[in-house]
This record gives sequence, C-alpha cells and structure tokens, in this order.
Amino acid sequence: MRGEAVTKMARFAPGGRLSALAGYVWRGGRHKQDAAGVTRARARRKFSASRLIMLLALLAMGATLVSAGVGYGVAQQSDERMWSEQRGALRNAIGEFRALFGNNREIDPRFVRMVEQSARLQGLKFETEPSAGEREMQPVLDAQGRIAGFFTWERTRPMSAAMDGLMPYIAALALALVGFAGFSLAQLRRAGRDLTASEEQARRAADEDKLTGLPNHAKTLELLDLYLAEHAAHESTTFALVELDGMEDVTAHLGVLGSDELIVAVATRIREAVPAEAVVGRVGSDEFAVMLIAEDDVDVEPMIRAVLENIARPHWFDTVVRVSAHAGFAQAPRHATTRGELTRRAELALRAAAKKGPGSIVAFEAAIDTVSTDQKFIQRELPRALSANELELHYQPIVAAHGGRIVGVEALLRWTHPTRGAIGPAVFIPVAEQMGLMDTLGAFVLRRALQEAKRWPDLYVAVNLSPLQVRDRTIVDLVRSALEESGVPPSRLMLEITEGVLIDNPEEMVKRIEDLHDLGVRVALDDFGSGYSNLSYLQRFPLDKLKIDRSFVVALGTSANGGVIIQAIVALGRALGLSVLVEGVETEQQRVLLRLAGCDEMQGFLFAKPAPAATIDRLLAQQKQSSGAKALAAPATLTA
Ligand code: C2E
Ligand code: MG
Ligand code: MG
Repeated sequence: MRGEAVTKMARFAPGGRLSALAGYVWRGGRHKQDAAGVTRARARRKFSASRLIMLLALLAMGATLVSAGVGYGVAQQSDERMWSEQRGALRNAIGEFRALFGNNREIDPRFVRMVEQSARLQGLKFETEPSAGEREMQPVLDAQGRIAGFFTWERTRPMSAAMDGLMPYIAALALALVGFAGFSLAQLRRAGRDLTASEEQARRAADEDKLTGLPNHAKTLELLDLYLAEHAAHESTTFALVELDGMEDVTAHLGVLGSDELIVAVATRIREAVPAEAVVGRVGSDEFAVMLIAEDDVDVEPMIRAVLENIARPHWFDTVVRVSAHAGFAQAPRHATTRGELTRRAELALRAAAKKGPGSIVAFEAAIDTVSTDQKFIQRELPRALSANELELHYQPIVAAHGGRIVGVEALLRWTHPTRGAIGPAVFIPVAEQMGLMDTLGAFVLRRALQEAKRWPDLYVAVNLSPLQVRDRTIVDLVRSALEESGVPPSRLMLEITEGVLIDNPEEMVKRIEDLHDLGVRVALDDFGSGYSNLSYLQRFPLDKLKIDRSFVVALGTSANGGVIIQAIVALGRALGLSVLVEGVETEQQRVLLRLAGCDEMQGFLFAKPAPAATIDRLLAQQKQSSGAKALAAPATLTA
C-alpha cells in the first residue's frame, strides 16, 4: 500500500525515492484549490454530457435499426396476408364460374377480367400451359376434374416495395447515427481524460495548504508515515516543528493579507534552508514541519538552525518585517517509532523551545515528557480516586493580625494516591478542569467543607473556586443547596476566586459575585499580585477580601521595595473597604512587618500548615486553653 503510494508520487517528480516525495510537495501557489474545484466541476459536467449524448446516439441508432427490421417484417406479413386473400378470392371465383368452363379450354376474356377484379389481382391471364416466369399460378379444373388450364397473375408486394423505397433513407440515417456515436465516443474519452486529470489535480489541492502550496497537516502526517516506513536500519527520521514567534503582533501590524504574504515568504525561506530531499509542511497557522531521513550519525541541528536563521533575515515588503521562530524536534526510532508518539514528542520539544524563547531549538529528551506523563496518569487515576474516596480536605488556619486568634480556615483539597503518594491540587485541578470533572470535584469540596465547618461555629471557612466553576452560572445554585444542606450560616462561607476569571467576561463576573452576595456569602480575590495585579479590579468588582499573594511576602525580605509595595497594596485595599489578608507568612520577621503594614489577617506556615479537620479541632482547643496569640505564634505546636 505504502510502496504503491511512493511509486505514484515518484511519477510527479522523477528521481530518487525521497526527492520524489519532496518534489511532489513543493509546488507553491495560492488559490489552487479553488481553481481545481472549478475545473473538476466543469470536467465532470462535460463528462456527464458526453456520456448522455453518446447514449442517446446509440439509442437512436438502435431504435432506427429495430424499427427498420420490424417495419420490413410487418410489410412482408401484410403482403403475404394480401396474397393469401387474393388466392382465396380467386378460388371462390373459380368455384362460382366453374360451370362456365367448357371442354374447349377457352375462357371468355370478360370472365377473366371479372375474376381479376373480384380477386383484386393484377395482370390475370388464363393460360393452357403453366408459365415459366415469375408469375403466380393457380390451376383450373374442368367439370371432370381435369386441369383445364392455369390462371397466372403478377405477384405484387406493395408494402415491401414501400419499405424498399425507404431503405436508402434508413441506411443513411443509421450511418449518420453510427458516425455521431463514434464522435460522441471520442468526446467521451476526452472528457474522461479531463476528468481524471482534474480529479488528480483536486486530490493534490486537498493535500496542499492553500496559501503556501506546501503539504497541509493531514498530508504531512501521511508523508511522515511513509518516511517512518521507508527509513533503513542505519537511518533516522527527523520530525521538526518550527513555530513563528509573535504572529499576532505581525498580523496586527501588517493586516491579514500582509501576514499571509509573510507566511508564504517564510515557507520559501524554510525550503531554501533544507536539503532538497526534506519535506516541508504547514501544520498550523504559524507552524511548519520539516521531515528528513538521514544517516543515524548526522546532526540535524545545524539544518534547523539554518532554517531559523533564514526565517529571521529581514523580509522586505512595503516595510521591512522581521520575524523569529523557535523549533523542537524528535527523531525516530531514537525517541519514538510511531507517528503519534513522534509528533507528540516533537510537540513537547517545541513547547519547551517556546518557553526558552525566540531562536531556541530543543531536541526531545525524556525529561520533557515527565509532566505530560503525569498528566496522563492523573487523567486515568482521578475519576477512580473520586469514587474511591482518596480525596479529602485539609484546612489551613487564618489568623487575625492583631492577637493571632484563628478566625477562619481555608479548605485545601488533598489527594493521596495509593502508590504515588500526595499529589498537589495545583497539579490535578487543571487536569480535572480539562476533563470536565470540575463540577463533581467542586461540589464535593463545597459540601465537605460546609459539613466539617459545622464543628467550628466561630470560624469562617474559605473555599477555592476554580475559574471554570466561577464561569458556570449554576455555581450559585450549588452554593445555595450546599448551604441549605449543611445549615451553616452563609456569612461563614468565604469563596475564593482568582484574577484571571475576572478578565474574560467582567460584566458577567460582576453579576455572579452579586448573586453570591445575595445568598449572604462573601467573596475574596485570591493570589492578588501573582497575575495581572490590576488595581482597577478592586474597585470594579464587589469583593469582600483581598488575599495578597505569597510572592509579595517573599519580596519583603529580598527586595528593597518589597515592604513599600505591600504597604501600598494593603493601604489601597483597606481604603476600598476590603479586608486584607496576606498569604504565605513563614517567618516572625514577615509577620511583624505585615502587621505594621496594616493587614487584617494572615495565613502561612508560621501559624499552621494545612491539616486534617481533627488537627483544627486540636488547635482550637489549644487556643481556648492558652488565650490565643502566644500559642499561634509557635508553628511547631500547631502542626504537631
Ligand atoms: P491557594 O488557594 O492560594 O492556597 C494556598 C496555597 O499556599 C496552598 O497550597 C497552601 O498549602 C500554600 N501555603 C499556605 N501557606 C504557605 C506558606 O507559608 N508557604 C508556602 N510556601 N505555601 C503556603 P496548596 O494546598 O498546594 O494549593 C495550591 C492551590 O491549589 C491553591 O492555592 C488553590 O488555588 C488550589 N486549590 C487547592 N484546593 C482547591 C480546591 O478545593 N478547589 C480549587 N478550585 N482549587 C484548590
Ligand atoms: Mg485560596
Ligand atoms: Mg492563594
């Protein structure tokens, strides 16, 4: 099957095995597909029309010949019927007039005429001897039963004669139809050839990227299959992905047509930089693939470097445009043997190169793959974990900056896998979102947190909502029903959302937060400062609490301005009427500085690590005993 495909391609670009493939794919040209489509439709129409004409011609010819034959038959039959009627009439006449025959063998000519008329015969004669010619003959017996003589008459065939007259015309018509059918056959053949050619063209067009004329994504993968099947034992197939940097900016600058022109130019630059036997395909809007078979010991990185350098040279349009690219590659059989695995690994290498920045080239290596293997593992295991009760909640105390009393707890999801051990929420929650498991997971967290919060009537419980949950309108119903089921007053529930979710659809988010407020719950902005840190959010969204990200606390000790910034944010939050909490407080020094900065609440390992509900029970009991602040200043006792 594959071998066949190779031979087919080789026809288009004679030469070596791989140059045949390469030649096949580089044909360049915009709007080829449209043109091919039109040509093919026209060729199809022509073919159908020619076939119809030819069929009609054959039918007409058949009909003419058949009707000529039938006509002849009918004419002959009608002539024969006429003959037998004439004979019958003659015999009757003879019977009637028998008495008139004398022995003299003479017959009155008037009688002959009478018989001639009554039997409608032509040229009737009475003869005593049988005539030798072509004439019809009927013996006449006298009264004694002896032959008295013979009536003879001319045989007429009026119908057949009429048909004879038509014959030359019929023959001419049949001949004309034969000629026409022959002509139609020739037309049909030509139309068939055109159709095959245009279908071939259409097949090619379906394989090509419309803009650059390079093989498109599907074709590239098909060619990769061929390469993988073709490379010899001492050879490797390299599959490299080249991605342009910042094409959004280029499009914004040049417009869509300009960026199309750039893509075409880049395609040419890539082709120029690779050996003739390499295949270049366009596999995404700003992503290209380069495939090459080479000896195992050939280092392909210089080729890929040449590609990137060639792309980066200035492009002269109306204005000079520069565009950089990065590349990732994997090789078969070293990194993978199947198409799926090879492309996946090249993709991973490309992502790693994107992280490194413009101009980077990354060869696949096993280390890159661990994250995604984890992802696969999580995808497989998470649904099971949910039903097997492997997930539970830990709670991290939140303390008042003044006095250090525990005022609330943040519920944090924990997964302890039977063989892998603890898997962090930051790892598995995004996977749950991707898998559509967040509904189930989110409902589990909310219900469990509210159930367990019943044990701590003086504390509020903070529950994290993933962006997907916040975007979903039904979150309001979920929160309402979870509150009703647990009987926990809504004022004791704090929902934590992150900045990212506010950007996508601000109007809807304002509405969502208001709906949640209407239930009586409070809403905190989590991780403030880790993302966009847009101060305008604080004003725009009806928030209750600001949770300043741990990164600011880290900056407290390391950067000269760290203290100033955190002071400013705390002051701003308070000025806007928000309660300010700082996360990730780990040292006594940080605690003191933050307290001076004016924050309201703190959370961090200095006070307590997230722990099961039972530990919170114990901490609260301790707190009761030793009037608060001092006990909470010593993390060791709290986490024990
Ligand atoms: P987060 O909501 O900002 O939670 C605080 C994270 O900081 C927790 O990480 C906590 O263990 C950690 N942390 C607290 N104090 C300190 C400290 O002093 N130093 C350091 N280095 N870390 C501290 P964790 O539990 O790994 O959770 C990570 C993130 O996962 C959470 O960040 C939250 O965004 C998300 N998450 C956790 N549980 C849930 C959940 O039930 N639902 C949703 N949607 N997200 C959750
Ligand atoms: Mg949180
Ligand atoms: Mg946080």
